[in-house]
Amino acid sequence: MFDKVLIANRGEIAVRINRACQELGISTVAIHSEADTQSMHVRIADESVCIGPNPVNKSYLNAHAIISACEITGAQAVHPGYGFLSENASFAKMLEDHKLTFIGPKSNHIEMMGDKIEAKKIMKDYGVPTVPGSEGNVKNETDAINSSLTIGFPVLLKASAGGGGRGMKVVNNEKELKKTLPILKQEALSFFGNDSIYIEKFIDSPRHIEVQVICDSHGNYLHLHERDCSVQRRNQKVIEEALAPDISDEKKQKLFEICVNAMEKMGYLGLGTLEFLFDGEEFYFMEMNTRLQVEHPITEMLTRVDLVREQICVASGDKIFTSQENIKPLGHSIECRINAENPINFKPSVGKILMYHPPAGNGIRLDTFIYSGYTVPHYYDNLLAKLIVTGRTRNHAIKRAIRSLNEIVIDGIETNIELHKKILSNKEFKSGGVAINWLESNIKNL
Ligand code: ADP
Ligand code: ADP
Ligand code: MG
Repeated sequence: MFDKVLIANRGEIAVRINRACQELGISTVAIHSEADTQSMHVRIADESVCIGPNPVNKSYLNAHAIISACEITGAQAVHPGYGFLSENASFAKMLEDHKLTFIGPKSNHIEMMGDKIEAKKIMKDYGVPTVPGSEGNVKNETDAINSSLTIGFPVLLKASAGGGGRGMKVVNNEKELKKTLPILKQEALSFFGNDSIYIEKFIDSPRHIEVQVICDSHGNYLHLHERDCSVQRRNQKVIEEALAPDISDEKKQKLFEICVNAMEKMGYLGLGTLEFLFDGEEFYFMEMNTRLQVEHPITEMLTRVDLVREQICVASGDKIFTSQENIKPLGHSIECRINAENPINFKPSVGKILMYHPPAGNGIRLDTFIYSGYTVPHYYDNLLAKLIVTGRTRNHAIKRAIRSLNEIVIDGIETNIELHKKILSNKEFKSGGVAINWLESNIKNL
């Protein structure tokens, strides 16, 4: 096991990882930008290093500065969290070259899955059902039109390097396609440094169902059941739950088998999530995230497996402590992503938190980095906190989540807490199994 780990992230996830490390007896190094000197992840780590100015490309994305910070502090491994460098294969490779461990999969697997076109091809070869679409990237406008006509409009144009709900656009006909393709290509180039675009059938009102896997270097490939992340706005998840309501056990078991089998064929290591669209009958693979996911705590609460602890253990060469038979989900778990945003126009809200009071009690977990007096900077993601509740039944978890949202106090900045209460109190949400377009179609009348 490692003696010292550097956490290459900020915010709630850096705090979460710090906890797992300290519980394993590992001492921790936080990195931070100038704006984050007073941030919680810096305060609770055993050591910290300021690695640069506020813009992310000068700090949290600065691979050379992070490696220097490892050398100065003697950290043996780096946990990348999510976002930032977590799915950057060349960063993982640089660490390998410096004899540092990247707490994540092997760099070749990050690379394979990071290109969404490549990922779909590979998964298809492994027998995973994928969303119908273009074979590879579209070469030019004519190629895009031909592909779309074969697939049938409406189609979704997707950047092969996209992520975080960005880099995709629906087009309904040839005219729209001609207009949108060059714009998306330009966007993809400036956001992701790669203008490769592919086309998928736009699936009408599906659900987003994903499977959590964990693999070690001793031949163990396990799944930790599924999550339903269909409550989304602008392709970004707002509420997640586990297990997914109203899908038969038989269908789920078949999906888990396909996922585990693909991981075994790949020889995958560490945590991963396979994301699918579900049309009520079939699952279609969209992409694989080769990292710890924002919504991992609902799986932790449901299965009682500490995913971050296990992720660190398997990266250091240990076996997974448990077996598939012993991973038994119990009850129902829901996560609400609490963002700093204006409730009307959804623009990020920044400023000083005058007063913060967390909810508590049975079945409540709050993963956050905020505190009374903390100033939320404008440079970074606007996720403030994740409320995770577990109940005996789905209905119980929903009531518990509303009760907790009534208890929480975050004064001084705007948040989406009221939106969460409205969603959780909504009849359609309560009946279970809403589609990915449900929130956006109903947001004005909730
Ligand atoms: P999850 O699937 O774990 O919910 P998200 O898709 O919400 O993850 O992304 C988690 C974080 O990572 C967000 O802050 C998002 O902006 C960021 N992110 C994900 N993929 C990329 C990418 N390719 N480029 C830049 N940021 C990304
Ligand atoms: P990201 O890397 O940004 O997470 P994904 O490929 O996982 O991108 O897609 C993000 C979201 O966009 C999905 O959760 C789903 O809501 C929607 N989406 C993606 N592909 C399709 C599709 N083919 N049809 C309809 N919706 C889709
Ligand atoms: Mg995704």
